[in-house]
Amino acid sequence: MPTQNRERLLDSAVISCGYALVVAIFLIKPAVVQDRSIPAALTLAAYPMADLFIFALLISLLLSGGLGTQAMRLLALAQLALLVFDLAYAFIPAFLLQDSLFSGITNAASLAVYGLLGAAALHPGFTSLTAPSSFESRPQLPWIRVPLLWTAALAGPALLAYEAWRYDGKVPDAFVIAVGCTVIFGLVVGRLQALITRVNSQSVELAEQARRLEVLASSDGLTGLVNRRTWDDMLTAGLEQAGRQQLTTTVAIIDIDHFKHYNDTHGHQAGDRLLKTAAAGWSAQIRHHDVLARYGGEEFIVLLPDCDAATAAETLGRLRAATPDNQTFSAGIATWNHEESADDLVARAHAALYAAKHDGRDRSVIAEPNRSVRV
Ligand code: GH3
Ligand code: MG
Ligand code: MG
Repeated sequence: MPTQNRERLLDSAVISCGYALVVAIFLIKPAVVQDRSIPAALTLAAYPMADLFIFALLISLLLSGGLGTQAMRLLALAQLALLVFDLAYAFIPAFLLQDSLFSGITNAASLAVYGLLGAAALHPGFTSLTAPSSFESRPQLPWIRVPLLWTAALAGPALLAYEAWRYDGKVPDAFVIAVGCTVIFGLVVGRLQALITRVNSQSVELAEQARRLEVLASSDGLTGLVNRRTWDDMLTAGLEQAGRQQLTTTVAIIDIDHFKHYNDTHGHQAGDRLLKTAAAGWSAQIRHHDVLARYGGEEFIVLLPDCDAATAAETLGRLRAATPDNQTFSAGIATWNHEESADDLVARAHAALYAAKHDGRDRSVIAEPNRSVRV
Protein backbone atom coordinates (compact mmCIF):
# COMPACT_ATOMS: atom_id res chain seq x y z
CA MET A 1 0.00 0.00 0.00
CA PRO A 2 1.42 3.46 -0.89
CA THR A 3 2.80 5.19 2.24
CA GLN A 4 0.45 8.18 1.87
CA ASN A 5 -2.59 5.86 1.78
CA ARG A 6 -1.37 4.07 4.91
CA GLU A 7 -0.89 7.41 6.67
CA ARG A 8 -4.37 8.55 5.63
CA LEU A 9 -5.91 5.31 6.87
CA LEU A 10 -4.08 5.63 10.20
CA ASP A 11 -5.24 9.25 10.55
CA SER A 12 -8.86 8.37 9.88
CA ALA A 13 -8.55 5.39 12.28
CA VAL A 14 -7.26 7.71 15.06
CA ILE A 15 -10.08 10.21 14.46
CA SER A 16 -12.70 7.46 14.27
CA CYS A 17 -11.42 5.91 17.51
CA GLY A 18 -11.78 9.24 19.32
CA TYR A 19 -15.33 9.46 17.98
CA ALA A 20 -15.99 5.80 18.87
CA LEU A 21 -14.95 6.42 22.47
CA VAL A 22 -17.50 9.23 22.87
CA VAL A 23 -20.20 7.20 21.08
CA ALA A 24 -19.46 4.07 23.16
CA ILE A 25 -19.86 5.92 26.45
CA PHE A 26 -22.79 8.21 25.62
CA LEU A 27 -24.82 6.12 23.15
CA ILE A 28 -23.90 2.45 23.00
CA LYS A 29 -23.48 1.88 26.73
CA PRO A 30 -26.84 3.44 27.72
CA ALA A 31 -28.53 1.41 24.97
CA VAL A 32 -27.03 -1.85 26.19
CA VAL A 33 -27.08 -1.24 29.94
CA GLN A 34 -30.70 -0.10 30.30
CA ASP A 35 -33.26 -2.66 31.20
CA ARG A 36 -34.28 -3.68 27.69
CA SER A 37 -34.73 -6.92 25.84
CA ILE A 38 -31.58 -8.10 24.06
CA PRO A 39 -32.97 -7.46 20.51
CA ALA A 40 -34.05 -3.94 21.53
CA ALA A 41 -30.63 -3.18 23.07
CA LEU A 42 -28.80 -4.58 20.00
CA THR A 43 -30.99 -2.56 17.61
CA LEU A 44 -30.39 0.63 19.58
CA ALA A 45 -26.64 -0.04 19.72
CA ALA A 46 -26.52 -0.86 16.00
CA TYR A 47 -27.40 2.73 15.00
CA PRO A 48 -24.38 4.45 16.57
CA MET A 49 -22.12 1.57 15.48
CA ALA A 50 -23.23 1.91 11.86
CA ASP A 51 -22.83 5.68 12.20
CA LEU A 52 -19.27 5.00 13.25
CA PHE A 53 -18.56 3.36 9.89
CA ILE A 54 -20.12 6.32 8.08
CA PHE A 55 -18.00 8.69 10.16
CA ALA A 56 -14.80 6.71 9.39
CA LEU A 57 -15.68 6.75 5.67
CA LEU A 58 -16.33 10.50 5.65
CA ILE A 59 -13.09 11.25 7.49
CA SER A 60 -11.15 9.01 5.13
CA LEU A 61 -12.69 10.81 2.12
CA LEU A 62 -12.02 14.22 3.65
CA LEU A 63 -8.37 13.42 4.36
CA SER A 64 -7.81 11.94 0.92
CA GLY A 65 -9.25 14.96 -0.88
CA GLY A 66 -11.80 12.55 -2.42
CA LEU A 67 -14.63 15.08 -2.05
CA GLY A 68 -13.49 16.74 -5.26
CA THR A 69 -16.59 16.00 -7.41
CA GLN A 70 -20.04 17.53 -6.97
CA ALA A 71 -21.73 14.09 -6.85
CA MET A 72 -19.33 12.91 -4.15
CA ARG A 73 -19.93 16.09 -2.13
CA LEU A 74 -23.71 15.51 -2.30
CA LEU A 75 -23.25 11.89 -1.23
CA ALA A 76 -20.98 12.92 1.65
CA LEU A 77 -23.45 15.63 2.69
CA ALA A 78 -26.26 13.03 2.77
CA GLN A 79 -24.14 10.76 4.99
CA LEU A 80 -23.23 13.70 7.24
CA ALA A 81 -26.90 14.68 7.55
CA LEU A 82 -27.73 11.06 8.41
CA LEU A 83 -25.03 11.06 11.05
CA VAL A 84 -26.21 14.33 12.62
CA PHE A 85 -29.79 13.10 12.49
CA ASP A 86 -28.90 9.79 14.19
CA LEU A 87 -26.90 11.55 16.88
CA ALA A 88 -29.60 14.13 17.50
CA TYR A 89 -32.19 11.36 17.66
CA ALA A 90 -30.16 9.56 20.28
CA PHE A 91 -29.12 12.62 22.28
CA ILE A 92 -32.29 14.73 22.33
CA PRO A 93 -34.66 13.00 24.71
CA ALA A 94 -38.13 12.93 23.19
CA PHE A 95 -39.66 14.56 26.25
CA LEU A 96 -37.81 17.81 25.54
CA LEU A 97 -40.00 18.36 22.50
CA GLN A 98 -43.67 17.79 21.92
CA ASP A 99 -44.25 14.45 20.31
CA SER A 100 -45.70 15.85 17.09
CA LEU A 101 -42.96 18.49 16.75
CA PHE A 102 -40.23 15.90 17.37
CA SER A 103 -41.62 13.50 14.79
CA GLY A 104 -42.11 16.41 12.37
CA ILE A 105 -38.44 17.39 12.70
CA THR A 106 -37.20 13.81 12.37
CA ASN A 107 -39.38 13.25 9.31
CA ALA A 108 -38.08 16.46 7.71
CA ALA A 109 -34.48 15.47 8.51
CA SER A 110 -34.86 12.00 7.00
CA LEU A 111 -36.50 13.55 3.92
CA ALA A 112 -33.48 15.87 3.62
CA VAL A 113 -31.16 12.84 3.77
CA TYR A 114 -33.10 11.03 1.01
CA GLY A 115 -33.32 14.25 -0.99
CA LEU A 116 -29.53 14.66 -0.89
CA LEU A 117 -29.02 10.99 -1.79
CA GLY A 118 -31.40 11.39 -4.74
CA ALA A 119 -29.65 14.58 -5.90
CA ALA A 120 -26.29 12.76 -5.77
CA ALA A 121 -27.67 9.82 -7.76
CA LEU A 122 -29.19 12.11 -10.42
CA HIS A 123 -26.03 14.20 -10.77
CA PRO A 124 -24.29 13.56 -14.15
CA GLY A 125 -20.96 13.01 -12.34
CA PHE A 126 -22.41 10.09 -10.33
CA THR A 127 -21.48 7.48 -12.95
CA SER A 128 -17.81 8.43 -12.79
CA LEU A 129 -17.58 8.08 -9.00
CA THR A 130 -15.88 4.72 -9.27
CA ALA A 131 -13.22 6.03 -11.70
CA PRO A 132 -9.72 6.09 -10.18
CA SER A 133 -9.17 9.45 -8.53
CA SER A 134 -6.08 11.56 -9.02
CA PHE A 135 -6.24 12.98 -5.52
CA GLU A 136 -2.54 12.15 -4.87
CA SER A 137 -1.73 15.41 -6.61
CA ARG A 138 -4.25 17.47 -4.62
CA PRO A 139 -3.49 19.11 -1.29
CA GLN A 140 -4.33 16.77 1.58
CA LEU A 141 -6.22 19.39 3.67
CA PRO A 142 -3.45 19.64 6.26
CA TRP A 143 -5.31 22.43 8.06
CA ILE A 144 -8.19 20.11 9.02
CA ARG A 145 -6.11 17.00 9.60
CA VAL A 146 -4.24 18.39 12.61
CA PRO A 147 -7.25 19.81 14.55
CA LEU A 148 -9.18 16.57 13.91
CA LEU A 149 -6.26 14.47 15.16
CA TRP A 150 -5.88 16.73 18.20
CA THR A 151 -9.56 16.45 19.07
CA ALA A 152 -9.49 12.66 18.69
CA ALA A 153 -6.37 12.30 20.81
CA LEU A 154 -7.91 14.48 23.53
CA ALA A 155 -11.18 12.49 23.63
CA GLY A 156 -9.79 10.02 26.22
CA PRO A 157 -8.36 12.58 28.69
CA ALA A 158 -11.43 14.81 28.23
CA LEU A 159 -13.82 11.91 29.03
CA LEU A 160 -11.67 10.99 32.04
CA ALA A 161 -11.84 14.56 33.38
CA TYR A 162 -15.57 14.79 32.61
CA GLU A 163 -16.45 11.56 34.46
CA ALA A 164 -14.20 12.43 37.42
CA TRP A 165 -15.99 15.80 37.68
CA ARG A 166 -19.46 14.36 37.08
CA TYR A 167 -19.15 11.40 39.50
CA ASP A 168 -17.11 13.05 42.27
CA GLY A 169 -13.72 11.61 41.47
CA LYS A 170 -14.98 8.20 40.34
CA VAL A 171 -14.60 7.16 36.70
CA PRO A 172 -17.23 4.49 35.90
CA ASP A 173 -15.98 4.02 32.34
CA ALA A 174 -12.30 3.91 33.24
CA PHE A 175 -11.85 0.53 31.53
CA VAL A 176 -13.47 1.63 28.25
CA ILE A 177 -11.47 4.88 28.29
CA ALA A 178 -8.23 2.98 28.99
CA VAL A 179 -8.89 0.60 26.07
CA GLY A 180 -9.77 3.56 23.78
CA CYS A 181 -6.63 5.49 24.79
CA THR A 182 -4.43 2.40 24.28
CA VAL A 183 -5.80 1.87 20.77
CA ILE A 184 -5.39 5.58 19.92
CA PHE A 185 -1.81 5.66 21.27
CA GLY A 186 -1.00 2.48 19.30
CA LEU A 187 -2.32 4.09 16.12
CA VAL A 188 -0.41 7.31 16.79
CA VAL A 189 2.81 5.34 17.25
CA GLY A 190 2.02 3.49 14.00
CA ARG A 191 1.51 6.86 12.33
CA LEU A 192 4.87 8.05 13.63
CA GLN A 193 6.49 4.89 12.31
CA ALA A 194 4.89 5.44 8.88
CA LEU A 195 6.17 9.02 8.91
CA ILE A 196 9.72 7.92 9.81
CA THR A 197 9.62 5.28 7.06
CA ARG A 198 8.50 7.93 4.55
CA VAL A 199 11.16 10.42 5.62
CA ASN A 200 13.83 7.69 5.43
CA SER A 201 12.81 6.57 1.97
CA GLN A 202 12.58 10.19 0.81
CA SER A 203 16.08 10.93 2.07
CA VAL A 204 17.43 7.82 0.26
CA GLU A 205 15.64 9.03 -2.89
CA LEU A 206 17.05 12.55 -2.45
CA ALA A 207 20.59 11.22 -1.98
CA GLU A 208 20.22 9.14 -5.15
CA GLN A 209 18.88 12.18 -7.06
CA ALA A 210 21.77 14.30 -5.76
CA ARG A 211 24.23 11.62 -6.92
CA ARG A 212 22.59 11.48 -10.38
CA LEU A 213 22.64 15.29 -10.62
CA GLU A 214 26.30 15.34 -9.65
CA VAL A 215 27.12 12.80 -12.37
CA LEU A 216 25.08 14.83 -14.90
CA ALA A 217 26.75 18.09 -13.89
CA SER A 218 30.27 16.68 -13.98
CA SER A 219 30.15 14.58 -17.14
CA ASP A 220 29.80 15.17 -20.85
CA GLY A 221 26.41 14.07 -22.18
CA LEU A 222 27.67 12.53 -25.42
CA THR A 223 30.80 10.67 -24.40
CA GLY A 224 30.23 10.22 -20.66
CA LEU A 225 33.75 11.57 -20.04
CA VAL A 226 34.51 14.19 -17.40
CA ASN A 227 33.45 17.61 -18.69
CA ARG A 228 35.66 20.66 -18.97
CA ARG A 229 34.55 22.37 -15.76
CA THR A 230 35.22 19.28 -13.67
CA TRP A 231 38.47 18.64 -15.48
CA ASP A 232 39.66 22.17 -14.58
CA ASP A 233 39.04 21.34 -10.90
CA MET A 234 40.79 18.00 -11.26
CA LEU A 235 43.79 19.62 -12.94
CA THR A 236 44.12 22.10 -10.07
CA ALA A 237 43.93 19.24 -7.55
CA GLY A 238 46.35 17.14 -9.63
CA LEU A 239 48.93 19.93 -9.79
CA GLU A 240 48.62 20.53 -6.03
CA GLN A 241 49.32 16.86 -5.42
CA ALA A 242 52.18 16.86 -7.92
CA GLY A 243 53.64 19.89 -6.08
CA ARG A 244 53.37 18.19 -2.70
CA GLN A 245 54.79 14.85 -3.84
CA GLN A 246 57.27 16.24 -6.39
CA LEU A 247 55.64 14.22 -9.18
CA THR A 248 56.22 14.72 -12.89
CA THR A 249 52.79 15.49 -14.30
CA THR A 250 51.91 15.84 -17.95
CA VAL A 251 48.92 17.18 -19.84
CA ALA A 252 48.04 16.32 -23.46
CA ILE A 253 45.44 17.96 -25.71
CA ILE A 254 44.02 15.81 -28.51
CA ASP A 255 42.19 17.23 -31.53
CA ILE A 256 40.68 14.95 -34.17
CA ASP A 257 41.98 15.80 -37.62
CA HIS A 258 39.65 17.03 -40.34
CA PHE A 259 36.60 16.23 -38.28
CA LYS A 260 34.49 18.76 -40.13
CA HIS A 261 35.20 16.79 -43.30
CA TYR A 262 34.25 13.54 -41.50
CA ASN A 263 30.93 15.11 -40.51
CA ASP A 264 30.33 16.43 -44.00
CA THR A 265 31.06 13.00 -45.51
CA HIS A 266 29.32 10.66 -43.04
CA GLY A 267 26.78 12.92 -41.39
CA HIS A 268 26.66 14.58 -37.98
CA GLN A 269 25.26 11.49 -36.25
CA ALA A 270 28.13 9.35 -37.51
CA GLY A 271 30.43 12.12 -36.19
CA ASP A 272 28.76 11.79 -32.79
CA ARG A 273 29.23 8.04 -32.86
CA LEU A 274 32.90 8.46 -33.71
CA LEU A 275 33.41 10.84 -30.76
CA LYS A 276 31.69 8.35 -28.46
CA THR A 277 33.61 5.31 -29.72
CA ALA A 278 36.91 7.17 -29.66
CA ALA A 279 36.31 8.28 -26.06
CA ALA A 280 35.54 4.69 -25.01
CA GLY A 281 38.55 3.29 -26.92
CA TRP A 282 40.95 5.87 -25.49
CA SER A 283 39.62 5.40 -21.94
CA ALA A 284 40.59 1.74 -22.19
CA GLN A 285 44.19 2.72 -23.00
CA ILE A 286 44.91 4.96 -20.01
CA ARG A 287 45.58 4.19 -16.35
CA HIS A 288 42.91 4.27 -13.72
CA HIS A 289 44.13 7.54 -12.22
CA ASP A 290 44.66 9.34 -15.54
CA VAL A 291 41.81 11.74 -16.31
CA LEU A 292 40.47 11.97 -19.87
CA ALA A 293 37.99 14.78 -20.46
CA ARG A 294 36.08 16.25 -23.36
CA TYR A 295 37.46 19.74 -23.65
CA GLY A 296 34.95 20.89 -26.27
CA GLY A 297 33.81 19.81 -29.76
CA GLU A 298 36.29 17.26 -31.13
CA GLU A 299 38.96 18.32 -28.66
CA PHE A 300 39.93 16.17 -25.68
CA ILE A 301 42.43 16.63 -22.86
CA VAL A 302 44.14 14.10 -20.65
CA LEU A 303 45.87 14.57 -17.31
CA LEU A 304 48.66 12.05 -16.76
CA PRO A 305 49.96 12.16 -13.17
CA ASP A 306 53.42 10.73 -12.44
CA CYS A 307 54.18 10.64 -16.18
CA ASP A 308 56.88 12.39 -18.21
CA ALA A 309 56.53 13.71 -21.76
CA ALA A 310 58.17 10.71 -23.46
CA THR A 311 55.83 8.27 -21.67
CA ALA A 312 52.91 10.55 -22.53
CA ALA A 313 53.94 10.38 -26.21
CA GLU A 314 53.91 6.55 -25.97
CA THR A 315 50.46 6.66 -24.38
CA LEU A 316 49.24 8.90 -27.19
CA GLY A 317 50.61 6.35 -29.67
CA ARG A 318 48.31 3.73 -28.11
CA LEU A 319 45.40 6.16 -28.25
CA ARG A 320 46.12 6.85 -31.89
CA ALA A 321 45.95 3.13 -32.64
CA ALA A 322 42.63 2.91 -30.78
CA THR A 323 41.02 5.74 -32.78
CA PRO A 324 38.09 4.31 -34.77
CA ASP A 325 37.30 4.45 -38.47
CA ASN A 326 40.91 5.20 -39.52
CA GLN A 327 40.65 8.71 -38.14
CA THR A 328 43.75 10.50 -36.94
CA PHE A 329 44.37 13.13 -34.34
CA SER A 330 47.00 15.68 -33.50
CA ALA A 331 48.17 16.24 -29.94
CA GLY A 332 50.12 18.76 -27.90
CA ILE A 333 51.98 17.47 -24.82
CA ALA A 334 53.19 19.70 -21.97
CA THR A 335 54.87 18.59 -18.74
CA TRP A 336 54.28 20.82 -15.73
CA ASN A 337 57.41 22.79 -14.74
CA HIS A 338 56.25 23.07 -11.09
CA GLU A 339 56.05 26.86 -11.37
CA GLU A 340 53.50 27.80 -14.00
CA SER A 341 49.74 28.07 -13.43
CA ALA A 342 47.30 25.45 -14.70
CA ASP A 343 46.19 27.90 -17.43
CA ASP A 344 49.77 28.42 -18.60
CA LEU A 345 50.36 24.66 -18.69
CA VAL A 346 47.25 24.13 -20.85
CA ALA A 347 48.25 27.10 -23.06
CA ARG A 348 51.63 25.47 -23.72
CA ALA A 349 49.91 22.17 -24.58
CA HIS A 350 47.62 24.10 -26.96
CA ALA A 351 50.57 25.79 -28.63
CA ALA A 352 52.15 22.35 -29.14
CA LEU A 353 48.86 21.10 -30.65
CA TYR A 354 48.84 23.99 -33.14
CA ALA A 355 52.40 23.12 -34.04
CA ALA A 356 51.32 19.49 -34.64
CA LYS A 357 48.50 20.69 -36.92
CA HIS A 358 50.86 23.04 -38.68
CA ASP A 359 53.35 20.25 -39.25
CA GLY A 360 50.78 18.16 -41.14
CA ARG A 361 48.53 16.59 -38.42
CA ASP A 362 48.44 12.92 -37.22
CA ARG A 363 51.29 13.54 -34.78
CA SER A 364 52.17 14.66 -31.27
CA VAL A 365 54.34 17.62 -30.35
CA ILE A 366 56.00 17.96 -26.96
CA ALA A 367 56.16 21.47 -25.57
CA GLU A 368 59.26 22.45 -23.61
CA PRO A 369 59.14 25.24 -21.04
CA ASN A 370 59.99 27.78 -23.73
CA ARG A 371 59.58 25.96 -27.03
CA SER A 372 57.86 22.98 -28.67
CA VAL A 373 59.62 19.79 -29.81
CA ARG A 374 58.20 17.64 -32.66
CA VAL A 375 57.80 13.84 -32.06
P1 GH3 B 1 41.45 20.23 -37.90
O1 GH3 B 1 42.14 19.04 -38.44
O2 GH3 B 1 42.15 21.49 -38.20
O3 GH3 B 1 41.19 20.10 -36.46
O4 GH3 B 1 40.08 20.32 -38.67
P2 GH3 B 1 38.67 20.03 -38.11
O5 GH3 B 1 37.72 19.90 -39.23
O6 GH3 B 1 38.71 18.84 -37.19
O7 GH3 B 1 38.42 21.27 -37.21
P3 GH3 B 1 37.35 22.38 -37.30
O8 GH3 B 1 37.55 23.24 -36.09
O9 GH3 B 1 37.37 23.10 -38.63
O10 GH3 B 1 35.96 21.64 -37.18
C1 GH3 B 1 35.63 20.93 -36.06
C2 GH3 B 1 34.33 20.23 -36.36
O11 GH3 B 1 33.90 19.43 -35.26
C3 GH3 B 1 33.22 21.20 -36.70
C4 GH3 B 1 32.08 20.77 -35.80
O12 GH3 B 1 30.89 20.67 -36.50
C5 GH3 B 1 32.50 19.40 -35.34
N1 GH3 B 1 31.96 19.11 -34.04
C6 GH3 B 1 32.14 19.76 -32.86
N2 GH3 B 1 31.44 19.18 -31.87
C7 GH3 B 1 30.78 18.13 -32.44
C8 GH3 B 1 29.89 17.15 -31.93
O13 GH3 B 1 29.54 17.09 -30.76
N3 GH3 B 1 29.41 16.23 -32.80
C9 GH3 B 1 29.76 16.23 -34.11
N4 GH3 B 1 29.28 15.29 -34.91
N5 GH3 B 1 30.58 17.15 -34.61
C10 GH3 B 1 31.08 18.08 -33.79
MG1 MG C 1 39.92 18.99 -35.42
MG1 MG D 1 39.25 21.59 -32.91
